[in-house]
Amino acid sequence: MNKALRKVVIAGNWKMNKNPDEAKKLVEDIKPLVANANCDVIVCVPYVDLTNVLAAAAGSNVKVGAENCHWEVSGAYTGEISAQMLKSMNVEYVIIGHSERRQYFGETDVTVNLRVKAALAAGLKVILCVGERLEQREQGVTCELVAMQTKIALGGISDEDMKNIIIAYEPVWAIGTGKTATSEQANEVNLAIRETVAQLYGKAVGDATTVQYGGSMNAANAAELLAQPDVDGGLIGGASLKPADFATIVSAASK
Ligand code: PEP
Repeated sequence: MNKALRKVVIAGNWKMNKNPDEAKKLVEDIKPLVANANCDVIVCVPYVDLTNVLAAAAGSNVKVGAENCHWEVSGAYTGEISAQMLKSMNVEYVIIGHSERRQYFGETDVTVNLRVKAALAAGLKVILCVGERLEQREQGVTCELVAMQTKIALGGISDEDMKNIIIAYEPVWAIGTGKTATSEQANEVNLAIRETVAQLYGKAVGDATTVQYGGSMNAANAAELLAQPDVDGGLIGGASLKPADFATIVSAASK
C-alpha cells in the first residue's frame, strides 16, 4: 500500500474539556508549535468553544471540527446541533460514531450512518470512528466487526463523497485507558478497514482513504504507530490537550 497516495491527518478530540477562554488559549499555544507541519492538523472541540477556536485558528494551518452532529436539519431535538448549524459557522470537520457516543449515548451503526450522510450533505468532512470492545477482540472478531461498522456507516455514500471521509480505527479498550494497540495490531485493523473501503468503492478509493489510529496515542508511542504503512495519522484524545505532546505527534506524522 502506498502511503503517499493519501493525506496524513492528526486530529485532536478535546471531548468535554475546556471552556471557551481556555479553548482560545489552547489553540493559541498549539498554533506556533504545528505551523510547519507536513500533515493536516485538526482540533475537534466542544460546541461552545467553536466560535473562539475558529477565530483563534483563522489564518493558520489548524483546521476546526466538532465532536458530533444530528442528522436532521432543524426541529424539535432539544439539546442537539445540526450539521448545517456547524457549516454555517465555517466548521470544516465533524467526528461521528466516537465510541463514547456509542457507549454512553445510544449511538448505533444506523444512527452513525444517518449522521455521516447529514454531515456530508451539509458540506462537512467526516472523521468516522470504528473499533472493537475488549471482549470482541478476545473473541477474535475485530476485523469482521470493524468491517461491518464501516459498511453500515458508509451505506448510501458515493465514491465522490469518500474524498470527504477519514476513518479512525479506535479500539474501545485503548481509548483513555493508557493501553495502546501494538503498531502491528493497529496496522492490521487499519488495513482491514482499507480493504473494506476497496471492496465497496474499488482499490483506488481504498488506497486514497485516510485511515487513522486512535487510542492512547501519545508523544512517546506516536512515531512507531505512525510509521506503519496503513496508519495515516491519529485521532488523539488526552494528548491533544497538551500542546507540546500534540506538537510532538504532529511532527512524528510530518516525517
Ligand atoms: C479519542 O478520544 O478519540 C481518543 C483516542 O482518546 P485517547 O487518546 O485519550 O485515548
